[in-house]
This record gives sequence, structure tokens and C-alpha cells, in this order.
Amino acid sequence: MSRILILQSELIPNLISAAKKLGDDITVVTLENTSTNNTAENSVNEILKIAKDYSHILAPSTTWGKNVLPRLAAYLDCSMISDVVEIKSTDTFVRPIYAGNALETVKSLDKIKLLTIRPTAFQAEAIETKNITLTTNNTFTKTIFIDYKTTPSTRPELSHAKIIISGGRGLQNAENFKLLEQLADKLNAAIGASRAAVDAGFVPNDYQVGQTGKIVAPQLYIAIGISGAIQHIAGIKDSKIIVAINKDPDAPIFQIADYGLVGDLFEIVPELIRLLND
Ligand code: FAD
Repeated sequence: MSRILILQSELIPNLISAAKKLGDDITVVTLENTSTNNTAENSVNEILKIAKDYSHILAPSTTWGKNVLPRLAAYLDCSMISDVVEIKSTDTFVRPIYAGNALETVKSLDKIKLLTIRPTAFQAEAIETKNITLTTNNTFTKTIFIDYKTTPSTRPELSHAKIIISGGRGLQNAENFKLLEQLADKLNAAIGASRAAVDAGFVPNDYQVGQTGKIVAPQLYIAIGISGAIQHIAGIKDSKIIVAINKDPDAPIFQIADYGLVGDLFEIVPELIRLLND
């Protein structure tokens, strides 16, 4: 009989729908901290006290999930299966490999299955779950939490946004990203970026979309001045509609775009903003 434990996160409804495919006995655990030192190490020390009561432990494939679950898996002497996009049965899971170019089906023989779930692959669902709270203490002293910084923004969060406007190296500099902000304001969109734009310092790291950034699945993804490298595509291919604006008609992004605009972004984007103003 499956007993499923979900590690609390803001993406819980998506994880619950994944958990439902494993069984009905679902518990959500919230981790509260007595101070600010809520590191993966301290969290795992507490989760370990209850982990053996469960057949499956699920966390989202976010930075947080990818930080906590491998450590937990090592302590439980089980392997971890990352980025699950489909649950075939209680022991068989599908996950992308080679930057999403292939899907592999893996069967786990471990007593406890530890899975990070790709939230965009599962519809959000609200059902009754058991809820427990664990208080994490600062039991692990070798790592100490110092500070947590996020980029203040009034825009929707990238992982949940219905519309995303992403810019690439074609934007040329940080200043030009203001053009995308104007467009995003009109559409209530989140702003993302390619790794080249992040590496060049045009925008902060947490804007990065792709294999080593955020995996997104909005209703509308507009890629501006982005060539469409496989590592970028890996993060956007579940988007409902992809629009690409690129001056190079042979840019690979056009192979997956539903709509393509070939031209200079510095002419097309201001024109789009003007039309949306009318
Ligand atoms: P470029 O490839 O340089 O493309 C710029 C595009 O802008 C070109 O197509 C050009 O035609 C167009 N352009 C230029 N000027 C204009 C203009 N005026 N008007 C219109 N179009 C214009 N990349 C990611 O994005 N996300 C990842 O998570 C990621 N992970 C990676 C992981 C690994 C292990 C590796 C090796 C690479 C990874 N990359 C990732 C990098 C990826 O391979 C590409 O280098 C990167 O995506 C390119 O970014 P870009 O499209 O902005 O830049």
C-alpha cells in the first residue's frame, strides 16, 4: 500500500495531482523553522524522523526540492529520481534526459521512492490530504543560513505566469530589456531570459529559462532575440503557444514556434507596444 509524503512548497496542487496517481494516502508536510536557519541540512534532519513511514516522498523540481531530496535519498540509502513528468505505476516513472530530447522510463526497486516532480507536467488539483508540521531546529551547524535575496518584482512569478516575454542576446544590453518590460506591462506578463542574456549581465540569474534555469509552461511564450538552442527549448516546449521574434529566418526557434516574426526586434517590439496602447 502506497503512503505518499509531499514536502511543502507553493506548487503543492501540481504535486498533489502527481501523488494521486500513486495512491490515496497523501500527507503534506510543512517545515517550520525556529529561527532563520532553514537550510536543506536542517530540514532533512527532521524529515528523516518520519521518512521511513512512507513509500514515496515527493518534492517539486525546484532549487529547493533539488537541494533537499538528494540529501534525504543519501541518508535513506535510496536512489532519487529527478524531473518526473509521468507516473506509470507506483514504481515506474518517466523523466526527460538529454536536455529533454528523449524520455526515459525507469523502474525503481527501492523501498522508498524519492521523486522530484516537474510541476508543469501535472495539472494543479485540490484534494483532501493529511497535513503535518515539522519544526526544524538548527541541528546542523556546519552550514549556516546568512541571507535570502530575491529580485523585488510586481510581475507574476516566472514558474506560474500565464504569459512570459523572454529576451536573449539579441537585446544587446540591460537597458534594452526595458523595452520588454513595457510589453510585459501591457500583457501582465513575467519576464524571462536566455542564459546568454543572464551571463552577459542583462538580467539577474533567476530570470533564466531553460535546462539549467526554470522550466515553464505558460499559455503564451514570446521569445525575443533568442536563437532557440536546445537547452533553451528544453525549458519552454510545454508552452501552449510559442511566438518568436528574430531577425534571422533560419534561427532554430522558428522550428518550434507557432508564430514567427522575422525582423528587427527594435522595430517590431515598439510597434507591438504601440498597437497594444491603441
Ligand atoms: P544567441 O544564440 O546568441 O542568439 C541571439 C539571437 O538573437 C540570434 O538568433 C539573432 O538572430 C537574434 N537577434 C540579434 N539581434 C536581433 C535583432 N535586432 N532583432 C531580432 N533578433 C535579433 N541557454 C538557455 O537559454 N537556458 C538554459 O537553461 C541553458 N542551459 C545550458 C546548459 C548547458 C550545459 C549549456 C552547454 C548551455 C546552456 N544554455 C542555456 C546556453 C545555450 O546553449 C545558448 O548558448 C543560449 O540559449 C543562447 O542564448 P541566446 O539565444 O540569447 O543567444
